[in-house]
Amino acid sequence: MNDQTETLEFQAEARQLLQLMVHSIYSNKDVFLRELISNASDALDKLRLAALVDKDLAVDIDDLHVAIEVDREARTLTVRDNGVGMTRDEVVSVIGTIAKSGTAELLRQLREAKDAGASQELIGQFGVGFYAAFMVAEKVVLVTRRAGESGGTRWESDGGGTYTVATVDEAPQGTAVTLHLKPADAEDNLHDYTAEWTIREIVKRYSDFIAHPIRMAVQRTGEGDETSTETVTLNSMKALWARPRGEVEPAEYHEFYKHVSHDWADPLETIHMRGEGTFEYEALLFIPSHAPLDLFSPQGRRGVQLYVKRVFIMDDCDALMPNYLRFVKGVVDAHDLSLNISREILQQDRQIRAVRRRLVKKVLATVKEVKTGQPERYRTFWTEFGPAVKEGLIDDTDNRDTLLEILSVASTHDQAELTDLAGYVGRMKDGQTDIYYATGENRATIENSPHMEAFRAKGYEVLLLTDPVDEVWVEQVGSYDGRTLRSVAKGQVDLDTEEERTEAEAERERQRAEYADLLGWMGGVLTDSVKEVRLSTRLTTSPACVVGDAHDLTPTLEKMYRAMGHEVPKVKRILEVNPGHPLVAGLRKAHEQGGTEASLAETAELLYGMALLAEGGDLADPSRFARILADRLARTL
Ligand code: ADP
Ligand code: MG
Repeated sequence: MNDQTETLEFQAEARQLLQLMVHSIYSNKDVFLRELISNASDALDKLRLAALVDKDLAVDIDDLHVAIEVDREARTLTVRDNGVGMTRDEVVSVIGTIAKSGTAELLRQLREAKDAGASQELIGQFGVGFYAAFMVAEKVVLVTRRAGESGGTRWESDGGGTYTVATVDEAPQGTAVTLHLKPADAEDNLHDYTAEWTIREIVKRYSDFIAHPIRMAVQRTGEGDETSTETVTLNSMKALWARPRGEVEPAEYHEFYKHVSHDWADPLETIHMRGEGTFEYEALLFIPSHAPLDLFSPQGRRGVQLYVKRVFIMDDCDALMPNYLRFVKGVVDAHDLSLNISREILQQDRQIRAVRRRLVKKVLATVKEVKTGQPERYRTFWTEFGPAVKEGLIDDTDNRDTLLEILSVASTHDQAELTDLAGYVGRMKDGQTDIYYATGENRATIENSPHMEAFRAKGYEVLLLTDPVDEVWVEQVGSYDGRTLRSVAKGQVDLDTEEERTEAEAERERQRAEYADLLGWMGGVLTDSVKEVRLSTRLTTSPACVVGDAHDLTPTLEKMYRAMGHEVPKVKRILEVNPGHPLVAGLRKAHEQGGTEASLAETAELLYGMALLAEGGDLADPSRFARILADRLARTL
């Protein structure tokens, strides 16, 4: 049935994005041409690569180029390439659907965005690629033939809910996208895209660095008024990364960034460097100004592009960037590699690894500089990429010290501002030797957790760690600047000074003797849930809290490992009770006087359940807890 004309529906998300394009929430309409040229250039790169890898592929790669064709009468503009082209199935799957992860989320945000400015910014962060054509065209026709195949495919749509695809016999190799232009409209920022100078200007501004010639036929009027047609190349084709740093304008860097990243927003930082010596390379790297929607999805795009002597070799070259810097975009042009190098060989290559080490150092040094010199920019960086960068504290031991300098975390010191570790150390109290941190789901839960009481009473600052990755790196890093990183919810806490300790010792001794019976009995009652019940030195107002041994898995990590499918034995924690609290003191008395065993055991259970709830944890049997509590409350009425 492949040769028939089919009318198909766009995938729901694609349809919604198209509607946004047709109604043009994006004010800079000129960029549609950048997107079409960018796709054409990608298709040319892909074909050159395919021909390189497969010597038998019967394709002509002698004159890879982009042609822009204008018909003023018909008001059409065509962007044509003789690149890799698409099969009919590819046309349906890549043009009819949007596979980018996060599309649904973006659409939800767009619906919620109240004003046009916010919508523009969102769509700009997403980048709509091919669909941008519908900002300026009322109808788009795409004719394409996949390199190596004989028949072609014609695709057509007016940007409504459907499109048609048909198989055609004759089609030049590559892809031609023809736009039937909407009328020019100054108010709507719709320029006359059939005008030579408009096109020249747009190509120069957005696509000058494209490595293939972008050609256009232009009319020349000679001396005697006779006109002739002449084909001109509109772009300089100069590889930006090969030009001396001082000669490249920021705007040129930004357009190049948009081409390689498929992002519509300007980058946050540009890094242009060159390696000389035995292994020569040039690198042009960018730190984006916002995280991609797929930063934490395993299918997300990562890594930079690899070129060899100006020839595009591969996208997403993960051998050149560690996973935790997967958001860095750009190009590395290595001069001394073979053109048909494989991903596997790259991973092993000693020199590639050396390049990668230098790139990482440079990126981290840049971030450090930004942190010192431009706090606002740094804040943007850290908000967007901090959670990914923290993975480096686990994976990249070579750069751990730098990463610890770059790191920022929330802290009890300030409600709004993050702090770095140096700042924390600078504020440590006299006599304080360790760096204290608390982990949990969110700031409010941690701050209200009983574990914080002693620290609050002492005026000690506590770092508040709420990213899932935090639990892992604090464990692995262990210390900063010679000071131990210590969890407020683990081990024994002793914040007393020598003097206070001596003073309190007699009292503690007395309490230990007094409570020994109760604690032993409670340990028995709660034996399925906790490994020990002891008196607490960290509580001031709460009756009880649950803590771990110094090297125990925390409840969050336990949950995380389970979610990842690991078998983890149930970790039993320690229940600490506060002898200064009337409930605990009362329970002791009741136990001493031989109260009803069942009723006392329920009180012990409630005490444990409350401790779990207070730290934001989960009860093993919430309905049982609620029932016991309701019974007790009923009796107090
Ligand atoms: P992106 O370029 O970010 O992938 P686009 O919406 O610009 O997104 O393009 C979608 C896909 O359509 C491309 O990834 C490519 O597979 C295909 N495509 C678009 N234009 C062309 C072209 N000129 N030649 C070959 N394939 C193309
Ligand atoms: Mg594109």
